[in-house]
Amino acid sequence: MPPHDEDAVVTLRERERVTIDAEREKTTRTTVHCPIEGGTQTADHCRACPRFESESSSALSCRVPAATAVPRGVVGELLSGRSFCLDGELPVGPGAEVLERHDIAAAPVVDDHHVLVGMVTTQALMHAELEEAQLRGFGSLSSTSEVEDVMVTPVTSFAETMPIVEAARIMTERGLSSVPVVDAHGEVVGVLEAHDFVRFVARSR
Ligand code: SF4
Repeated sequence: MPPHDEDAVVTLRERERVTIDAEREKTTRTTVHCPIEGGTQTADHCRACPRFESESSSALSCRVPAATAVPRGVVGELLSGRSFCLDGELPVGPGAEVLERHDIAAAPVVDDHHVLVGMVTTQALMHAELEEAQLRGFGSLSSTSEVEDVMVTPVTSFAETMPIVEAARIMTERGLSSVPVVDAHGEVVGVLEAHDFVRFVARSR
């Protein structure tokens, strides 16, 4: 697309969603928050877009109308980095291993279309392990249960178009440290963490 005087180059942070399916296979999807669409676009889609300019290891640049380049202050613009989703039929043992290996306290549970159906948390795992221990002894949970058996529902989630201020208010009031973010179809785009707000404040100065 030929450059236009009213255009501006924007750099968009990439988000990586890693999903572990029931067979423990991983699929990865890399996306950005498109300022034109106001929602998620895959990096593959962007590379074919006439506005695409360049790409680095964790960001993508494109040329958009200057008025569109101004951040709208929505949750989708805050997301970055990698998040992990678990298939509901994944056994609990490998599910817990994902939390432990990546040092995360919670992971969204998704269906075959990556639509949010619940959340696995360290608290929920502890609770389920205690209940199972009373029936069969400690250590039996991981061999008898799937992630969907121990997930928490319903789950607080944010639309990617929700204002950042509103998301911060809800997380503060409810004491939430991580909340899944979904697109217009309910598909998980990433997980908003408390430190995303800290980075936002630091970069806003
Ligand atoms: S490259 Fe195109 S589709 Fe991707 S974010 Fe930029 S304007 Fe949107």
